[in-house]
Amino acid sequence: MPNGTQHVHVEALKCPHCGAELTAAAGHVICQYCGSSLVVTAPPAPPEPGGQPQPETVHRGMRLRPYTQGDPGGTGLEVFRLLVPAGWEARGGVTWNLQNVRMPAVAVFQCWNPGGLEGLEILPNLNFVGGGGLGGLLSGGQSFGAPVLQPMAAPVAMQQLVIPRYRGGMAGLTIRRTEPAPELAQAVQAEGAPAMVQRQVDAARARLVYQVGENGIEEELWAVVEVLYLPVQTLFGGQEVVWYITHILGFRAAEGRLDALADLFGTMVRSIKVNPAWMAAYEQTITGLAQAQIRHIQQIGQIGRNYAQMGAQMREENLQSWYGKHEVWDRLARERSESIRGVETYYDPYKGSEVELSSQYNQAWANGRGEYILTDDPNFDPNADTDTPLAWERLQPV
Ligand SMILES: [Zn+2]
Repeated sequence: MPNGTQHVHVEALKCPHCGAELTAAAGHVICQYCGSSLVVTAPPAPPEPGGQPQPETVHRGMRLRPYTQGDPGGTGLEVFRLLVPAGWEARGGVTWNLQNVRMPAVAVFQCWNPGGLEGLEILPNLNFVGGGGLGGLLSGGQSFGAPVLQPMAAPVAMQQLVIPRYRGGMAGLTIRRTEPAPELAQAVQAEGAPAMVQRQVDAARARLVYQVGENGIEEELWAVVEVLYLPVQTLFGGQEVVWYITHILGFRAAEGRLDALADLFGTMVRSIKVNPAWMAAYEQTITGLAQAQIRHIQQIGQIGRNYAQMGAQMREENLQSWYGKHEVWDRLARERSESIRGVETYYDPYKGSEVELSSQYNQAWANGRGEYILTDDPNFDPNADTDTPLAWERLQPV
């Protein structure tokens, strides 16, 4: 530090849990030493010009902002929404491929902490066609855009398909464990299968470690195998079997720090809501492709516009309850209860609806931008934060 010049000295921010110095933060920071999730508020303005600057303050908690994924290249509809930590980068997309008639679109999403190693990722679904009995489709070939492959148990699919495809390139990749996850399967099973279709659901989770640069990363991966037995005989007499690997989700942190963040990741997973209007447009596209009525991406856009008009006539609160009917991600997060503990339901007066947040903190705040702050510091008041011009309202449990 140069001497002799007048500069304002603001104390380095310290983690209230372990005392480690924290790097720059925008609202939400994760201590890279102990893994604590922390909310940072900007200092109040000095009482008079030239007054002593106040340090920023740090509280155990989390600060979340909404992220919305659109589908500009297809239906034009919102696809899903979720909450991500303030200050994290986030991006996602939807890719349409009409050659794959049973899965014409896949969605991806990733968000990560630019000041740390934490991240959450939704990876593209995969689909396959099972062989149709003796003389049926040959393994290794393609059927309407999907590889031909016999269905497999979820832990095997995790090891043979998911990990090699999505994490095979990671330096020093080690699979610590792969295990069945019946509670995840139950959560997806509870969504119900399409009429006339017999469905088998199986799920697995894996724990990986690998290197990114100098850093050891630990990641948990989830995957759900859904096998559909269609009420259709194939040309060769067997029943048509199609299967999907869905809900492929990864969350990661520095090695040894992942479990400390289970509550933050659980809150994010629980907040994922898929737009039912988009799902309906997607399913109508599959039907149209099966009947060879849809050939162009522009026609998907037309389907989307029909649903969008319907959606525009709904008020936000109706949309909320509509979203509420598709709560598979919420169930996934709940069923994974051994590391993700309780949920508290609050009433959000800005949205006019209920919101489920972590129960690990006894105070929740919301603002009109769809952001939330959770903390258990009784002296915490986000309205004292001069960087936040929006009014924050303390939420009441329902
Ligand atoms: Zn710490």
